[in-house]
Amino acid sequence: MDHPHFTELADSTGLRKSASEPGSAMPRQRKYLQHIGDQWCAPANGEWFETVNPANGEPWALIPHGTAADAERAVAAARCAFESGTWHDLNPTARGELLRRVATYLEAHIEELAPIEARDNGRRQVDLLPQLRYLPKYFHYYAGLADKIEGTVIPNDVPGVFNYTRHEPLGVVVAITPWNSPLMLAAWKLAPALAAGNTVVLKPSEHASASTLELALLLELGGLPPGVVNVVTGFGQGVGSALVSHPDVAKITFTGSDASGRHIAAAAGQGLKRVTLELGGKSPQLVFDDADMDTAVHGVLAGIFMGLGQSCIAGSRLLVQNAIHDRFVERLVAGMQGVRIGDPFDPHSQLGPIANQPQFEKVLAFIAQAREDGATCVLGGQAAHPANCPTGWYLEPTIFTNVTPDMQLYRDEVFGPVLAVTRFRDEDEAVRMANDTRFGLAAGVWTTDMARSVRLSQRIAAGTVYVNTYRSVSALSPVGGYKHSGYGRENGIDAIREFLQVKSVWMGLAPVPNPFPQDRT
Ligand code: NAD
Repeated sequence: MDHPHFTELADSTGLRKSASEPGSAMPRQRKYLQHIGDQWCAPANGEWFETVNPANGEPWALIPHGTAADAERAVAAARCAFESGTWHDLNPTARGELLRRVATYLEAHIEELAPIEARDNGRRQVDLLPQLRYLPKYFHYYAGLADKIEGTVIPNDVPGVFNYTRHEPLGVVVAITPWNSPLMLAAWKLAPALAAGNTVVLKPSEHASASTLELALLLELGGLPPGVVNVVTGFGQGVGSALVSHPDVAKITFTGSDASGRHIAAAAGQGLKRVTLELGGKSPQLVFDDADMDTAVHGVLAGIFMGLGQSCIAGSRLLVQNAIHDRFVERLVAGMQGVRIGDPFDPHSQLGPIANQPQFEKVLAFIAQAREDGATCVLGGQAAHPANCPTGWYLEPTIFTNVTPDMQLYRDEVFGPVLAVTRFRDEDEAVRMANDTRFGLAAGVWTTDMARSVRLSQRIAAGTVYVNTYRSVSALSPVGGYKHSGYGRENGIDAIREFLQVKSVWMGLAPVPNPFPQDRT
């Protein structure tokens, strides 16, 4: 978007590239500002850091290096907006209507952010556009819920009282997001938090901040009152931890790795703050010998390689029944051979780059360790060098077989295009292996046996179980983890409850008797 808050950098910075260069469908360069209250402001320390386009490895924008001072200002703005009553004192129907207007504004403009997010994290335009077109639905859905949060009248066992409950907002919510889908994940947090009447300070990942700043502008132009959504940028250890430990913050909603989740939970514990954690996964896909082969092959490939495995629910651990193991692996390998890797702005590219250099190196280290541990690499396993983008961070889609439960590749989240394949004998062994993980975010079951699919959907310990499908998400359906994949839920009716607290109101209907009558003789 063209806007004075996002200054174009002068050519003299050396950052400007022509639109014809790989990965640079957006011709201009930007120096971003943070959004605090009704201001677009420079970071308190006057420092910016470069954000790099993974398609070509080159910096393309400057992001404010927010620190504790910026966290302080943003929380103060959010608190002021909360306490002024401009948001949570709006009657819920009016709040819902305002959110719906914002959602309608987003519908008209959200696609403009596709090239920004693609430069942030390398997502292909063809993957991003449907996700962004859907994004306003999260706001519409929670706008609709804003005036349907009803308390109850308690049929109380105490005589002479009228007792009812109210669901009230918490206050200032801090929302922290990762780099893989910054806009969608911001919507998952903002829409229910705002519908419930809270105000928010949002901090995107240091690897992909630009699209969230642009989203803040759309929310402002769409009519959200000042201070209701504030965006600060910077690193987890700086502005992030300052936000998490700020005494005026009532709730943290966090999406990221389980390692960071542990820090957030500890800090939230210190401050006795509420917290929702959406963390990582090592989600199993169970393929039985009675599965529809084509459907299962397509579902497993999409589950791991769409988005290059950089999805929390990536189906990264494939468990295949013995009888079809070899045939199934052959089909997977054939399905990926010759896949076109390249510029995410090129509609012919079927896979784009890894989102950032540290992640690229982390995935290569996982691949090296899997080889050392004795797994068999049957596809890929190398960096890729597409002709149209020779300097970006590209990886071949990779499949390892003979992966055993003691290996790192079986246990830890790669968050990259690496599939770990293991055989199983029967249903009991499949369930045991599926649940043999510290994570519990999602699982896929591929079978034509209906009774088995029902049994498995009950026996697998994961927040989402897909049967003969994979990867769907909707504003209407809850997402969340079992075990180390986190706690709390996003999306669906459950999510708005994460941003509310229940008050019990007691009203006396009869005169209060004197507790200390005077006849004391
Ligand atoms: P990350 O944990 O490194 O960072 C996530 C965010 O937390 C960033 O904004 C970072 O700056 C911030 N952060 C890190 N340490 C912090 C601290 N101590 N205090 C405050 N903020 C801190 O994760 P990432 O590498 O950006 O994202 C990948 C991870 O996110 C994967 O593990 C993936 O599974 C997970 N993820 C989960 C879901 C879900 O819905 N469960 C969705 C997407 C991604």
